[in-house]
Amino acid sequence: MTLLVYHHEFFGNNWPVVGDRYAEFRKILGEVEKKVKLDVAEPVEESLLEKIHSRNFLEVQRKEWYYQAAKLSVGGSIKAAVKVWKNEINNALTLNVAAGHHAGKESAWGGTYLNIIGPLYLKLRDLGLRRMFYLDTDAHHGDGDREILSDFSEVVHVCFCSSNNYGAGKLCVNSNYLRDEEAYISRLRETLEKFRGFKPDIVIHFLGHDTHAWEYGSLGLSTEFFGTIASEVKDFAEEVCEGRYVIIHGGGADPKITSKVLQVVVDSLAES
Ligand SMILES: [Zn+2]
Ligand SMILES: [Zn+2]
Repeated sequence: MTLLVYHHEFFGNNWPVVGDRYAEFRKILGEVEKKVKLDVAEPVEESLLEKIHSRNFLEVQRKEWYYQAAKLSVGGSIKAAVKVWKNEINNALTLNVAAGHHAGKESAWGGTYLNIIGPLYLKLRDLGLRRMFYLDTDAHHGDGDREILSDFSEVVHVCFCSSNNYGAGKLCVNSNYLRDEEAYISRLRETLEKFRGFKPDIVIHFLGHDTHAWEYGSLGLSTEFFGTIASEVKDFAEEVCEGRYVIIHGGGADPKITSKVLQVVVDSLAES
């Protein structure tokens, strides 16, 4: 069973960078529900945020109009990851606004104002998780995530962005020149292959579709290709951690493209 976590707060607002990107997807939630279980996000606890972000940073963010939505985004991803970790569901996709990979300990930018993966990891670690494999295939470098995850040696962070950086357990793969899908998927496959021996307990994936041909970080990728990426990572999760796999929606703004991409991703996750 696949879970989709969302919140009605995510709909109908002009969010930083991504705008009202779920405007089309919300119309077909009834259809999507035939394939997946829907669940409603709950806000992340402040105490968890305080373990990741500085006090000053949080004080500033609390005054922002998007703060509650960002908390729901973090909390929704945590909810999904906990359910996957407890084997209540097989895999999950979480909608997200105003939170994500550009939020560091005390600074944030690019439409993401609370970090997701840091609080999520701490929550799962409390529940007994040891090793986490975290993949980022958004177009941009996950600078906030990298800063936060560098404190955690049992987390592998693989970031597809515009530079190569082969640090142990924290690495970047330059995907900017991979302007065809075959090259992209084979680079992804060979990168995953390297971490088979890491034996993660769960695979978390920050999947931005800003790499789509018509999006703001275009690598010329087609709508269907996001289903291919999700299938590839899902297969990897099935081999290494009994299929425990959570996709957090990253960048991408166009409502029509967003809706189509999420549908193909849902199909890949729900396919048995
Ligand atoms: Zn991006
Ligand atoms: Zn990177």
